[in-house]
Amino acid sequence: MISYKVEPKSRAEIRAYAHEFRKYLKLDKHLYFPIVELLDIMSDIFYGFSYEIVDDNELPLNVHADTDITKGHIRIKESVYDGACNGEGRDRMTIAHEIGHYFLIYYCGFRLERNFDGKELRSFEDPEWQAKCFAGELLIPAHLVGDLTPEEISEKCGVSFDAAVVQHKSMRKG
Ligand SMILES: [Zn+2]
Repeated sequence: MISYKVEPKSRAEIRAYAHEFRKYLKLDKHLYFPIVELLDIMSDIFYGFSYEIVDDNELPLNVHADTDITKGHIRIKESVYDGACNGEGRDRMTIAHEIGHYFLIYYCGFRLERNFDGKELRSFEDPEWQAKCFAGELLIPAHLVGDLTPEEISEKCGVSFDAAVVQHKSMRKG
């Protein structure tokens, strides 16, 4: 993966993008986001998008999926894809995360800069932080979860309890 940085974006901005995207997909009134199904219509929405499901041993042990931002291509480990199909929260979040990498660059037209010297990035311009933030906002829609507890968020949105807690906290901060 190329080390790169992107234009700074705040959580509020990324939340707004995720909401716009949900509205476009007519999913803005649904708690549960069908992330696996989205993969199959992504190329209808974004010209040039592609993804593939790869054998688990094609990617390093600690990598669940990756996105080639220069080609707009996502690779997902078979076990992760299967898990997501079975509603496994962590696997659903992995796919949302990779779509986040893609979306934030192609849709938002981020200026891409190579981070040649490998300097530590401020979180707002770190593509990993942004993709993580987007994934959380997409699967856990702030405007719908309102007063739900992390347990309820986890169940209704199909995300891990840990992800529900993180998102729950970020919403309380506003
Ligand atoms: Zn990532």
